[in-house]
Amino acid sequence: MPDRINIPHHVQNVLDTLNKTGHEAYVVGGCVRDSSMGRQPNDWDVCTSASPQETKECFSNHQTIDIGMKHGTVGVIFQMKDSGCIDCFDTYYDVVEITTYRIDGEYKDSRHPDDVQFTKRIEEDLARRDFTMNAIAYNPADGYVDPYGGQEDIEREEIKTVGNPEQRFEEDALRIMRGLRFAAQLGFQIEETTAEAMQRLADTVQKVSAERVQTELGKLVAGSFVDRVMAEHGGTLEIAVPGIRCVPVAHLPNIKTIRLAKLFPAEAEQHMRNLRMDRKTTAEVAALARLFAGKEPENKIAVKRRIRAEGLEIATLYMEALGRKKEIDEIVENNECCTVEQLDISGRDLIEMGIKDGREIGATLERMLDAVIEGRVENERGKLIDGKYL
Ligand code: ATP
Ligand code: MG
Repeated sequence: MPDRINIPHHVQNVLDTLNKTGHEAYVVGGCVRDSSMGRQPNDWDVCTSASPQETKECFSNHQTIDIGMKHGTVGVIFQMKDSGCIDCFDTYYDVVEITTYRIDGEYKDSRHPDDVQFTKRIEEDLARRDFTMNAIAYNPADGYVDPYGGQEDIEREEIKTVGNPEQRFEEDALRIMRGLRFAAQLGFQIEETTAEAMQRLADTVQKVSAERVQTELGKLVAGSFVDRVMAEHGGTLEIAVPGIRCVPVAHLPNIKTIRLAKLFPAEAEQHMRNLRMDRKTTAEVAALARLFAGKEPENKIAVKRRIRAEGLEIATLYMEALGRKKEIDEIVENNECCTVEQLDISGRDLIEMGIKDGREIGATLERMLDAVIEGRVENERGKLIDGKYL
């Protein structure tokens, strides 16, 4: 563990501002875990002894947002200058979430604490956090506050709940998904009693809101160590997320829809809907799962048929999953005809030639496209209207 953590300037500023008015403040959670492992943190969270109202008063010269006043979270907005490259000085914003130390009330439904209570003791705040590695606070003046042995567990590469795992998962079953997700991202082992409790309570994940499960699943499948989780905790995951079949996916491109399509071989569309995936993701996963269940295209003609049937976007993802993206790139680069729109003849041309029936126009264009894809005729207007396909 490093003795010191490099805290970004604006986050240090938050700590100093709170300290100046007599409040305690620490960076906490994922940012401490990631920095102490030499990983780039996603975001910087601050916890403080100041009440939400006091926090807002401290940052009255900043724009703040009430992220969850009831839960004690205030977001402070910082305007950042990105001077990463000489020519671009894009402004962007960073929101630092500042949460008042709190004790979570009773959980009645494995979902949300019924009420929260603020506290002045950091140790109590750390006690409500899910895993020991996420229950470490730090500031440059006091160093680490680590009452649950989080640093030691990070060194041992172990994921372990703060306190009794069964009780912690009963309070909030999302923690089961979070544990699996962290294992997939960090490559840590899940400590034995924690893993056993996860398995025993896996079915309670179904009580958690689909959106929250979906977010964790997305991060899990993108993790570098996803296959290890599939192999070691597949049983748990298959109970937690109905429809998932835990197979290796790390060899596939790190694209969410591709990996999900491999993991949901049957009724993918319904399962994506149940997970409240957005429409595009749902459609992509459903199409890819169907394609994975079928035969691989044997030659260029078959590839073109996939483009025609599925559209370029899905066909490209599919070929990418097969490790054959080059073949599709070549077709695109050469602007080879795969769709009716790319034919050198249009419905309007056919109308001018006297074909009136809409259905016949469509069928004729499809016949022409068959011939072009199969290489029986060139995609040239003159050759297409020589009578053979009319
Ligand atoms: P990430 O790298 O994905 O941001 P993180 O650990 O920072 O991981 P967040 O969801 O940002 O995860 O949560 C911040 C902190 O809040 C966690 O580190 C943990 O201490 C606490 N936390 C988040 N979700 C829960 C939960 N469901 N139960 C208990 N503590 C939680
Ligand atoms: Mg975080």
